[in-house]
Formats: sequence, C-alpha cells, structure tokens
Amino acid sequence: MTALPAAPLPQRRAHEGGPLPRYEHFVAGSWMPPGGGRYLESTDPTSAQPWYEFARGDEDDARLAVGAAYEAFHDSSWRDLPQSRRSSLLRRLAGLVHEHVEDLALTETLDNGKLLSEMRGQLASLPAHLHYYAGLAEQLCGETVPGPHPAILNYTLREPLGVVVAITPWNSPLLLTTSKIGPALAAGNTVVVKPSEHTSASVLRLAPLFEEAGFPPGVFNVVTGLGREVGQALVEDSRVAKVSFTGSTHTGSELAASCGARFVRTTLELGGKSPHLVFPGADLDQAAVGIVAGVFAAAGQSCVAGSRVLVPRSLHDELAERVVERARSIRIGDPLEPATQLGQLATAQQLARVEEYVALGVAEGARVLTGGDRRSIAGLAGYFMEPTVFVGGDNRMRLCQEEIFGPVVTFISVDSEDEAIDLANHTRYGLAAGVWTADLSRAHRVAARLDAGTVWINTYRCTSPMSPRSGFKDSGIGIEHSAHSMAEYTRLKSVWVETREGFADDPFVLRT
Ligand code: ADP
Repeated sequence: MTALPAAPLPQRRAHEGGPLPRYEHFVAGSWMPPGGGRYLESTDPTSAQPWYEFARGDEDDARLAVGAAYEAFHDSSWRDLPQSRRSSLLRRLAGLVHEHVEDLALTETLDNGKLLSEMRGQLASLPAHLHYYAGLAEQLCGETVPGPHPAILNYTLREPLGVVVAITPWNSPLLLTTSKIGPALAAGNTVVVKPSEHTSASVLRLAPLFEEAGFPPGVFNVVTGLGREVGQALVEDSRVAKVSFTGSTHTGSELAASCGARFVRTTLELGGKSPHLVFPGADLDQAAVGIVAGVFAAAGQSCVAGSRVLVPRSLHDELAERVVERARSIRIGDPLEPATQLGQLATAQQLARVEEYVALGVAEGARVLTGGDRRSIAGLAGYFMEPTVFVGGDNRMRLCQEEIFGPVVTFISVDSEDEAIDLANHTRYGLAAGVWTADLSRAHRVAARLDAGTVWINTYRCTSPMSPRSGFKDSGIGIEHSAHSMAEYTRLKSVWVETREGFADDPFVLRT
C-alpha cells in the first residue's frame, strides 16, 4: 500500500487571506503536481470564498494520466485479475466510502452549494452502487452459441475496452462518477476521471481510498482543470478507448463529434426539459409534492428537473395554487443547516443565467405567480434564487424549450391526453417525465408514448443502480446503471473453433 498523504480536510473559510489548501492530480497511485505549475481556485458558493486550490491540468498532464491508465491496463495485474478479485476490491472500496460519507458529503456541499442532507443521501448510496457493480463483475461472462455444425464451437468473450475517460459535471459529482467508473472498473478497464472545475475536491478525496482498498496504481486516476484544456486533451488522446460524459448537450455534442471522427466509443448523459403530465382524477397534493421535488429540490440543478407542468385547463389554477403555497414555505438558506430546504445555485454565472430566463419568460408572455428574484440571506454571500412558478406558459416559448438548471417551473394548460403527450414530447430532449394519474390504464398508455428514458408514475426522482438511466433524442447516447451498462464498457468477441482434427471443407464456399 502506498503511504499517501491525505488530501486536505474540507472546511468552510470565513475570510479571505492565507494560503489555501492545495489538491494535486492523482496519477498512478500518487499525487502529481501540474506540469505547468498552475492552479485554479474553487469557491464555496455559500460564502463566495475560495476554499482550496487545485491543479490546472494541461495537455502534458493529460498525457501522463492516460499513460498511467494505459500502462495499468496493459499490465496484466489488473486486466487478468480474476473477476472475483476485482469484485472484492470494489466491495472493499464500498466499505471505505461508507466510512467517509460525512467528509465526502461536506466536501461536495462546500463545492456546489447543494444541501448537505442531499449530498449525504447521495454519498450514503454509493456503497450500494459499488456493491452492485461488484456483483456485475462476478457475473460478467460470454456465451456459447450454436454453430452451423455440432463440431464447430462458437463462443463469445466480453472484454474490457482499455482506458476510459470519465468527464463529470458539478451537480452530483461522486454519484455521477460512480455510475461511470463502477461498470468501467467491474469490466476490467482503467479510468481517468476529469471532474468539473467547480467540484474537483470530492473525487480527489476518494482517490486514496482506491490505494487503501488495494487497487493497483494507475487503475484509477484523476486530473483536474478546465474542460477546454485538460478535458479536451484527454478526449483527443489516441490511447483512450472510451469517453463517458455527463454535462451539457452542447459540450456532449462537441465531444461526440470529436470521438465519432476517430471511432472512439461514447456514453453521453446530457440535458433535459422534463415534463410533468397531470391528469384529471390525480391526487393533486401528491402531484404538487412531486413537482416541488422535481424542480425545487437541489434548486433545480438536476438534469432530470421537472420544469414543465402540463395540466388540464380545469385543474390549472388549483394545482398551481398548491405548488405556489408549498414554494412559498420552502426554507432557503445555508446548505449546511439541517433545516434548509433550498440552498443556492452553484455559481454566480448560474444565478445570472436563471435570472435571464426569468426575464425572458416574462418577455415571452408567461406570468410569475411566485418567486422570480434572487434572495439575499443575512450573513451569507451565496447565489440564492427564489423558487419560481410561471403560469400561462406556451410550450413554444424558450422558457419551455431550453434547460434552465434552476428552481423555475412553468405551467402549461392542455385540453386532452393527446395534447399533453404531444407537448411533452415536443422538445429536443428526452430524459425524464412524471405522470400523475389515478387511472392505471392511462398511466401505462402514456408511459409507453413518452419520449423519455425514465418515466415516473405518481412519484419523481427515484433512482437505483439496478435500473437503467438513458436519455433519448438530444439527452444522450447509451445507458448508465443496471446490467445493461456493462455493455457500454466491454467489447464482444466471437471465437470459432473447428473441433474436428484435420477437417477441411470446400475453401471457396462460405461456411454457414
Ligand atoms: P456544466 O455546465 O454542467 O458544467 P459542461 O458540459 O460545460 O456542463 O461541463 C461538464 C464537464 O465537461 C466538466 O467537467 C467540464 O470541465 C467538461 N468539459 C467542458 N468542455 C469540455 C471539452 N471541450 N472537452 C472535454 N471536457 C469538457
């Protein structure tokens, strides 16, 4: 085991001044300072103070990290490890993560400003995710296939791909990282993670746990910095076999183009503009809670945020009133405080963007029923936005078509089930949808017709490592979570064996 100094402890800084704790890259089992000697600062959005600095990686750093992962992949100590052993390493890692949930959750809250309770919940679920992938590592196998003749044996091998680059966003840093590295490692790949420049610390705090668990050096690496610098350099390295990305549709499309030109595989989990479809007879209180959970939890900074409510004209006012009532009672404040229900947005830029969308919605003719303004909280410098409810939306408005990534929901009246489905599907995205109905046949009928990788019926924001997550249309390519995700990190080889000694057929005829 490498004697590795721990990464600095997470701590909110109240005042400017003094040196910041420093995080380096993690490459081949050791901390690696950036070759260019440059660092960036990460800001705690609640205090608006930088609280640590981290390596600003460049092309050379990317090359070294990919090199370490490439060597570790080609060195048989990882790829040829018995699957049961890979599985037990993942299980050991799960145990270590369990011991560090509090410190990892605090790290993520200080970085992205989401509620400590939310991040704690996410982190507490990681061991279950890792155990699940450990189980899949044990089950990974090929199959025998009936050949054209009983004497011909045909079997398949599920092989790892090689070096996997995982690029992640700031909203749920380690949960989304685990969705990528879990199946990638279970399948025998090696990985280089590039976290968001807004939330680099938690994955760096995770890194030494790989060493402690006993993973060979180079199997798990982290480089930090800007997407356009180190991120792009990772993606363009010819030794990389696969890029797994979660982030904006715009960046995902650029990455996909670059990878596509070189036949590098991708898994992409991108943006959304998810609808709630509410039907007559639905429990309106339950729907109101689901709408609040869908868009105000995590301050709407979730790719599956339910940001459009398609509701029958006759129920519009009543449902809007119930959502508004709940929105007004939401406690906004310090995400570290247990009573807080809505923290702030992750960056000043994000707050400005949400405010722009609110102004745009008003200009487009929608009406703000509650919220719409930034909020200041005594003693905190954070980027707080009020939970905002628009009514009178028209699905063609940019307010209803573009991803806002903030606590903003828009009500749109509909006159029929067909119209609700039509409008629900009428965006470039296809990530998630909520259906609120007491009618069982309608629930299944509607679920089947929605262009969404996930449909929740009478609930919202449920997730499990066992259930597939995928985005349709511009929301992504490929599958995360579930046994299906293993196919994303393996290649399938077909092996043919003639078992008859000395057998020779007509060489000019295809053997079928
Ligand atoms: P978000 O706004 O959610 O952060 P982005 O798509 O901008 O979404 O970023 C998601 C991740 O992608 C971040 O880790 C970012 O650094 C990285 N990234 C951004 N641009 C590029 C790029 N051109 N190449 C590789 N990674 C990138």
